[in-house]
Amino acid sequence: MKSIERDVALAQLSTMGVGGSAQFFCKAERESDLRRALDWAGSRGHDVFILGGGSNVVFADDGFSGLAVQLCLREVEFEEADDHVIVTAGAGVDWDTLVAQCVERDLGGLECLSGIPGSVGATPVQNVGAYGAEVSDTIAKVRVLDRSQKRGAELYPDHCRFAYRDSLFKSHEPGRYVVLSVSYKLPKNGSPDVKHPELQKRLEEAGIEKPTLAQVREIVLAARAEKSMVIREGDENARSCGSFFVNPIVSRETADSIRASWTGEGSMPCYEQPDGRQKLAAGWLIEQSDMPRGTRAGNVGLSSKHALSIVCHNGATSAEIIELARRVRAAVDARFGLELEPEPQFVGFADRWPLDGDDDDD
Ligand SMILES: Cc1cc2nc3c(=O)[nH]c(=O)nc-3n(C[C@H](O)[C@H](O)[C@H](O)COP(=O)(O)OP(=O)(O)OC[C@H]3O[C@@H](n4cnc5c(N)ncnc54)[C@H](O)[C@@H]3O)c2cc1C
Repeated sequence: MKSIERDVALAQLSTMGVGGSAQFFCKAERESDLRRALDWAGSRGHDVFILGGGSNVVFADDGFSGLAVQLCLREVEFEEADDHVIVTAGAGVDWDTLVAQCVERDLGGLECLSGIPGSVGATPVQNVGAYGAEVSDTIAKVRVLDRSQKRGAELYPDHCRFAYRDSLFKSHEPGRYVVLSVSYKLPKNGSPDVKHPELQKRLEEAGIEKPTLAQVREIVLAARAEKSMVIREGDENARSCGSFFVNPIVSRETADSIRASWTGEGSMPCYEQPDGRQKLAAGWLIEQSDMPRGTRAGNVGLSSKHALSIVCHNGATSAEIIELARRVRAAVDARFGLELEPEPQFVGFADRWPLDGDDDDD
């Protein structure tokens, strides 16, 4: 284990670039490092926060009083079987680097998830997804350290309670498991399964009838770049955590009544789920609630490309992020009677869900 450092600035460890310091911080390059770090914190009564690439967290301005452990387990194994390969990657592997490697090897299943920042270890946490794909489509196994039992365990998809942007790790037993590695089962000679209408349209426009995995990856990266959904230096929307709110999934009746109350132009985006419920587009709801793209509030704002992203500018604070997120939420509630749920994890706040608290919780 690299030595435990004190007072490490968290802003530099998160894509939003805000937040105070971690009282203690260390990197774990092996499982034994992680165990030692957990014992160290446990014996002193410190809280522990497990950090990946910091692309889905909001750190409080007051920082985190406890030990933040960044997982840097970086092995990748490709285990050949007849028609597929089991790819096992350590929690600290950069997600998009892994996707690129799999695409290069003609392994299908991850190509639509190109360009998502962060680490492999975080992918099962919120069942990372984009363009009609989710990691739960390909996850074969998650190896974890179970902090409550102090032992390693292997969890199979049935145990992981994967749902839309959710899992056992995120909301059912948060903090209990540290993900050590994730195994994905990927078909050899993969042919891409492009379900998302936007990607289908882009492929059609490019005159590509039977796309390769590499072509789908390229189209996804281009589509994401247009919405500032890949991190590019110099992009005014670069400092975000991606979508700040998850898309609400509502009953058919609720969707119908929102549609009936809608008097604007165009149609309301709405995607039927396998269970008959309807997924609404949070970005559209926000824009229709008088919170257009590019709305600015002090040093934070909504992305100029995508109303669903809260972006930070020079001097931004997490108090400003929380204030704007509450404003957005209140606007959508007032307009449509829907309460948007935040997507990122809030770390170091008095409240686990600071958007629900009073102003002075910030
Ligand atoms: C520009 C941009 C675009 C994005 N687009 C998408 C998208 O299309 N789809 C999508 O789903 N997400 C998207 N995200 C959100 C984010 O990239 C993903 O959620 C990503 O998986 C987070 O990875 P991370 O390593 O940065 O996790 P972190 O932000 O470091 O952590 C997120 C949560 O996971 C936990 N965690 C991290 N590693 C582990 C581990 N090894 N064991 C246990 N818990 C762990 C943390 O404790 C925390 O609760 C986007 C973010 C950005 C900035």
